[in-house]
Amino acid sequence: MRVAIIGGGVVGLACAWSLAKRGVEVVVIERDVIGEGASKGNTGWVSPTISFPLASPGTLAMGLKSAFDPNGALVIRPELDTRWLRWLWAFRGAATRERFLRGVEALHNLNRRTFEVLDAYQADGISFEMHGGGILTLGKTEKGIAWFAPVFEDLKKVGFEGQIETLTPEEARKIEPAIGEQVKFVVRTTIDRYVQPQSLMRGLADRVVELGQTVLEQTTVKGMRPTASGWEIDTNTGPINADRVIVATGALSPALLKPLGIEVPIVPAKGYSITLRGEGIRPSQALYMTESKIGVSGFDEGVRIAGVFELPGKDLTIDKRRLDVVVKDACSYLSDWHPSTSETSVEGWAGFRPATPDSLPLLGPVPGHDGLYLATGHGMLGVTLAPSTGALLADMILDGVAPAWVAPMRPDRRF
Ligand SMILES: Cc1cc2nc3c(=O)[nH]c(=O)nc-3n(C[C@H](O)[C@H](O)[C@H](O)COP(=O)(O)OP(=O)(O)OC[C@H]3O[C@@H](n4cnc5c(N)ncnc54)[C@H](O)[C@@H]3O)c2cc1C
Repeated sequence: MRVAIIGGGVVGLACAWSLAKRGVEVVVIERDVIGEGASKGNTGWVSPTISFPLASPGTLAMGLKSAFDPNGALVIRPELDTRWLRWLWAFRGAATRERFLRGVEALHNLNRRTFEVLDAYQADGISFEMHGGGILTLGKTEKGIAWFAPVFEDLKKVGFEGQIETLTPEEARKIEPAIGEQVKFVVRTTIDRYVQPQSLMRGLADRVVELGQTVLEQTTVKGMRPTASGWEIDTNTGPINADRVIVATGALSPALLKPLGIEVPIVPAKGYSITLRGEGIRPSQALYMTESKIGVSGFDEGVRIAGVFELPGKDLTIDKRRLDVVVKDACSYLSDWHPSTSETSVEGWAGFRPATPDSLPLLGPVPGHDGLYLATGHGMLGVTLAPSTGALLADMILDGVAPAWVAPMRPDRRF
């Protein structure tokens, strides 16, 4: 069997590895180079403890309140665009307590294999930058960190086995000396990890090729059509035939699927990051700065600072003023670390999270389109969910398995 995977981001490559390891002929088709989409500049958290839907009671009001705040961390802008308004309406419908709990459970179920698959990558000889030790959630105020405990309780209710620990700032500083005096409340998750996403994607792509499979870069899919025995994919470098197709094109999925009559409610949610070496005591852990909704990852190459969730994302221009605010906010949680003067020209990065209204990905076969599968819509959790997505898609394609717990993530669910 030959499976074509459209999209060489973290999700597509995870699917490619899982299929290649099971002996399937795989071709990954990427319009750019591997890992240049949303998967490039993120904080790389693999975090089942912070896996919950964005859609929850109060989120819409919070986002709309920030619509005209130039520094808002979560921004939802009302606009007169039918597709966007439909998405917003569905988001509103998903933001109930009951739907939130169902979402927590669905993500927990998908995450059950996350670390098993991640460890299997390493056991298979893939080398990539990975750090353990959990995530330190930092609050300046009790109110700022108060959301965490109830969400964790919701996770426990659905069978989550990880733990969290409440630390004093002094205890936290023993683990992460970069934490500043302004931080008064710290909760540490225990099982979470973080990876340098580009190292993971390069490692996966190289291993897939080593396993005898194909990774095509600079190859854009322009369309696809079913044939008598599978699919013909039209690319800028010629047609490619496959028995099965997985669409893993993240925020660009709607445009690719629309000509087939498939409407997927994915809207780009713009985020920013910047990676700096800086000066002072450098963060060497994963830190979540809760009031400012900023994630920081201490990578070998430097400190990556990421933030902003802007719906709908329009373009990938980098608003340097915006990014400077994110960096300044992040520094306000740290003791003395700051960007060095030689780094003022570092541009930063912007990416589109593929956001669905209920914050759950679209996974599995598309009814009425034999042999076509979706692995997209991972929103703010694509790195976390990629390993288990890959394993699940391989099971679905090779064993025809569709476990009952996947139902909330079916591509044809009602929004
Ligand atoms: C600031 C920020 C921080 C984040 N932090 C985290 C985090 O810490 N942990 C976490 O789990 N998630 C995080 N995320 C979310 C995560 O980055 C995304 O969910 C994930 O990258 C989505 O991966 P993907 O493979 O679906 O999409 P992408 O990485 O966008 O990959 C899709 C690929 O498809 C290709 N493509 C599109 N159309 C075509 C076509 N027609 N032909 C060929 N190729 C095509 C694109 O070029 C692209 O490479 C963050 C996101 C942002 C923006």
